[in-house]
Amino acid sequence: MCGITGYIGNKEAKEFLIEGLKRLEYRGYDSSGICVLEEKTLKTLKAKGKLSNLIDITSKETLSSNIGIGHTRWATHGAPTVENSHPHLSADGNFAVVHNGIIENYRELKSMLEDKGFKFVSQTDTEVIPFLLQYNYKGNILDAVKATVGMLKGAFALVILSTYDNGRLYAVRKDSPLILGRGEKETYIASDIPAILPYTKEIYLLEQDEIAIAEKEKVTVLNKEGKEISKEPFSITWDVKAAEKDGYEHFMLKEIMEQPNAIEKTVLPRINNEKVDFSEISLTEEYVRNISRIFIVACGSAYHAGIVGRNLIEAMARVSVQTELASEFRYMNPIINKDDLVIIISQSGETSDTLASLRYAKEKGAKILSIVNVKGSTIARESDDVLYTNAGPEIAVATTKAYICQVQVLNLLAIYIATAKGMINSSEHTALLHGIKSLPREVSEVLKKSDEIKQLAKKFKYTENAFFIGRGLDYAVALEGSLKLKEISYVHSEAYAAGELKHGTISLIEEGTLVIALATCKTLFDKMLSNIKEVKARGATVVAIVSGNGEALEKEVDFCLSIPETCEMFSGTAETVLLQLLAYYITCEKGYDPDKPRNLAKSVTVE
Ligand code: GLU
Repeated sequence: MCGITGYIGNKEAKEFLIEGLKRLEYRGYDSSGICVLEEKTLKTLKAKGKLSNLIDITSKETLSSNIGIGHTRWATHGAPTVENSHPHLSADGNFAVVHNGIIENYRELKSMLEDKGFKFVSQTDTEVIPFLLQYNYKGNILDAVKATVGMLKGAFALVILSTYDNGRLYAVRKDSPLILGRGEKETYIASDIPAILPYTKEIYLLEQDEIAIAEKEKVTVLNKEGKEISKEPFSITWDVKAAEKDGYEHFMLKEIMEQPNAIEKTVLPRINNEKVDFSEISLTEEYVRNISRIFIVACGSAYHAGIVGRNLIEAMARVSVQTELASEFRYMNPIINKDDLVIIISQSGETSDTLASLRYAKEKGAKILSIVNVKGSTIARESDDVLYTNAGPEIAVATTKAYICQVQVLNLLAIYIATAKGMINSSEHTALLHGIKSLPREVSEVLKKSDEIKQLAKKFKYTENAFFIGRGLDYAVALEGSLKLKEISYVHSEAYAAGELKHGTISLIEEGTLVIALATCKTLFDKMLSNIKEVKARGATVVAIVSGNGEALEKEVDFCLSIPETCEMFSGTAETVLLQLLAYYITCEKGYDPDKPRNLAKSVTVE
C-alpha cells in the first residue's frame, strides 16, 4: 500500500521524491510528505489529502539537497492528519523514516520508549521506528538499523535518512515490497516499479529481511545476519508508456482497452502445435493426471477469478476444486496435504493475506503454483511454479486487465488438466482452443460498444443500489461485475446466484431497483428467464446481458446488451469486459475518479 521514494545522487532530491510519488499515486493514499537533508538538518514537509497539496508547499520552499525520502501514506494507525503523515523523525531530529506496512508490536515498544522519557507526537505505529533508531544509535547507523529491525514485528518496508551520514540511505524490507534502481551516479528507491521506470530499467529487488545501503555510486545489500551478498540487477521489460495514460482520460479505461492485447500475450505463447504448452513450469502431464484436489486461494477480484477457475476446472477436468478467501484460509485450519495443488492468485504478487496462505500451504507440503502479474514479486519467488499473466503494469486501483489475464491462465489450465486426464475428446479440445483463441476478437467487439454502454450509464447516474444475478459461470462473473461497480462508483451492489434471490434478497427489490441479469449460459437460460420475470414482477429495472442476439429477452427486460456468441465455457471474459465498461461509465457519470476510489489501495500489503 502507500508509496515510498528515496533518492541519492547529483540532482535535486525533491524532484524525484515528488515525481516518483506521483507515479505511485494510483496505489491509494490519504496524506504525503518528503524529508531531505540540508546541511546537517533534516527538513520535512507534509500535507494532508492529495499530493498536489504537498506540491504546493514544496514549490514555495527552497529544498536544496541531493539526498531525501518521500512517502504517500495509506493510514492504518491514526487519522490521515499532518502529524501522522510520514516521514517521521526521531525525538532528537537525527533520523527520518518512511514506512509501508504495520508494526504489530508497536504498543509494547511505545510504552518501553515512553518509560525512557520519549514523547510521541503522532498516533502512528511508525513513530516507534525513528525513536528506536535514536535509542539504539551508539555511533554506527547500520548497527542501530539492525538493532531496531530486530525489535520490530509485523510487515514493513523502511527507508531511513540520518543527519549522521549525508552519503547513504538505508532500506529494509520484511513482507512489504521495496526496490532500488541504479542510474548514472545516483540511486533511486521506491516501493513499486512505475516510480522509477522513466529513470532506469536496472533494478534490485530487495528480498525478505535484507538491508540495502544506497549510495551515489553503488548499492550494497546485506542479508539478515548483516553479511554482504552479491545481487544481480534485474532488468525491467515494461516501458514508460505502459505506465502512462497515453491519451486516455483514465488509466482504468486505457487498461480496459488494452485487454485484447493482454489476452493475446497471456494465451498465445502458451499454445503450441495446437496444444496448451506449460513447459515453463514443472506441472507435467503425469503429475496433473494424478491430482485429486486443487485449492485456489486469493483475495478480491483474484478470488473471483478463482471461482471462474473452479467452475471451469471442475466442469472440464472433473477434479475437485475449492476456492478460498486468502484472509480466511489459514484460520480455517484447512485440511491440506502434500498431494494437493494450491493455486495462489495475486496481481501484485505481494498481497499480504495471499502470501501468508502460500506459506501456510507450503508448510503443509502442498505444491504451489502461483498466477502473478509482477515478475520477481515475493509470491512468484516463493512458489514452486509461476504462470505470469502478461498484462503489463496495471495502474488503476480497480483491476481489469490483470483479472482478465488471470482468468485466461485458469482457462488454459482447465484445458491442460482436462486433456492430460483424458476428459475431453479431440473435437472438444479443438473447440476449446478455438474458443480461447477467439477471445481477443470477441473482447474487441465488446469494446466497440463503448458508446452504447456510455449512453446506457447516463440512465444510472442517480442509482444507489444494484443487484447482479446469474447462474453457473454467469454467477461467477456477477461477483466480479458487482465488485467493479461498487468499488469505484460507490453504488451499493450485491451479486446473487439468481436462484437464491427468492430465499431472502428479493425483499429488497422494489420499483426501479437496478438488476443486471447475466444470461449468457445457454443451458440455464430458461431458469434465468424465470428469475428475471420474478424481479420484473416486483418493479425492477432490468439490464440483461446475453450472448448472440438477444431476441428471446429483449421484450422481457428494460435494456439488453449482447456479447458475441462464443464458446460457452469462456463467455465470462467478454461479459466481464462489458461489465467493466458499465462500471467505468456509471462512475464517470456520478463524477467520481475511477482510478482512485476512496479508501482503497492497489496492492494490499497489510492483513
Ligand atoms: N502503519 C503506518 C501508518 O499508519 C504506515 C501506513 C502505510 O503503509 O502507509 O502510518
